[in-house]
This record gives sequence, C-alpha cells and structure tokens, in this order.
Amino acid sequence: MKGKLLSILRLKCPRCRKGKLLVGHPYNLNYFNKVNESCPRCKVHFKIEPSFFYGSMYVSYGLGVGMSVALYVLQLLLGLNLNMIQNFILICASLIILMPYINALSKVLWAGFFIPYDAEAEKNSNSK
Ligand SMILES: [Zn+2]
Repeated sequence: MKGKLLSILRLKCPRCRKGKLLVGHPYNLNYFNKVNESCPRCKVHFKIEPSFFYGSMYVSYGLGVGMSVALYVLQLLLGLNLNMIQNFILICASLIILMPYINALSKVLWAGFFIPYDAEAEKNSNSK
C-alpha cells in the first residue's frame, strides 16, 4: 500500500511503479499534459485508446473538489475564521498553484484504473 501511494505521488507507471508516466516535470510548461507513449522501464503502452486521458478530467475534478473541501476544513480546524471571500481566494490560489500537479496526479490515477500493477514488471525493470 505504501509503495502504491508513493508511486502515485511520484507520478510513476502504474504497472512497474518505476518508469515515468509524464514526459517532463508537471511544472515544466513545455511538456504540460504530455504523457509518454509507453513506460520507459516496462514498456507498457499508456494510451490504451485514442483520447484515453480525457477521462482523467473526472479524476482531476474530484481531486480539486476534495482539496477545496480539505482546505476549508483545515482553516476551520486551525481557527483562522476566514470570511467567504478570503476562503474563496485561498482555495482559488491553491488550485491555480497546484493545478499542474493535480492534473498529472489525475492522469496517473486514471491510468492506474486500467493498467494493473505487475510485480514481475517491477522486478524486471529493477534489473535494467
Ligand atoms: Zn512501467
């Protein structure tokens, strides 16, 4: 479970948990939203069908809403007593700053729904 969570947070291939899913860093805007055709380590094909990663928008929406609610609850727990406008600004600023990472995370999660983990692929990619 810990390995799976770490591989998701590090934006790794869902099959081998070693290769990079994205072409570049999420905050490198030259490669924004670009996904590798296949895993550089285990060679699994990421784009199962044309426009496969459009579905990650649903995951991205869920992550954005979840983060917004979490931020609101966090400010309540910290006793900041922000008014509605301050909460709105806090949530919007956080979403804008974290948008590239949330977008990349949603692609990893979306791919993980369809590409199962393979312990053999992880072992084989270690030896390369
Ligand atoms: Zn892989």
